[in-house]
Amino acid sequence: MESFISQLLELQDHDAKYIRLVAFLEHIPLELDMIQTKLKQAQVKIEIERKSFLASELERKNIDAKLKEAEEKIVKLKTQQMQVKKNEEYEAINKEISTITEQINDLEFEGLDLLDKIDKQKIALSSNEENYKNEMKSIDAEIALLKKRKISMEEDKNQEWAQVQSLEQAIDPRLLSMYRAVKSRVKKPPFVVLLKDQLCTGCHLKVSNEIVKKVHDTKNPHQCDNCSRIVFKG
Ligand SMILES: [Zn+2]
Repeated sequence: MESFISQLLELQDHDAKYIRLVAFLEHIPLELDMIQTKLKQAQVKIEIERKSFLASELERKNIDAKLKEAEEKIVKLKTQQMQVKKNEEYEAINKEISTITEQINDLEFEGLDLLDKIDKQKIALSSNEENYKNEMKSIDAEIALLKKRKISMEEDKNQEWAQVQSLEQAIDPRLLSMYRAVKSRVKKPPFVVLLKDQLCTGCHLKVSNEIVKKVHDTKNPHQCDNCSRIVFKG
């Protein structure tokens, strides 16, 4: 292999690492955002559950108050009943008492259903709060790890960039500008590829016969006529 190809391959290797690190680093803020969103959603869910639990508690207090009021009314009516003289008045109070007693029964049923609902809400809420706390811990660890990885990736990226620059200085300027043109055209590595039989191993298309012939001249660089990558013979 010609030395200029070895030089290009080495440059490409560091370039590829640099490009990969840049992409990873660009992705880190997105990952952090995703983690925060997940946490926020869990928080909102708990808040909704807590509100509905409190609403049920309030409803239960209302029922208790209504029960108390109804029971007091019955006591009052019974006292009143003892003082009436007319039979129809006595019956009218009886009727009123039985209506209130029915209301009390309904309220008690309602109260029992509600207690059942409150129990379930309490269990769900506390288990979700527990999960949230655990999730918070693991998310904190995840965030700390990401931040640590970011620092070490930044260092690696700077090292790779320094390597790229120093390798570029040793390459013939015309060859380097060809390499850079390929890089800006195909964006992702590889930029320098093996020509296998008649196939460019970059775009996996057949190159022209002319390129197949030309590639035997190892003194000069040649490019795939489909993707423009620099091709070499193995
Ligand atoms: Zn190609």
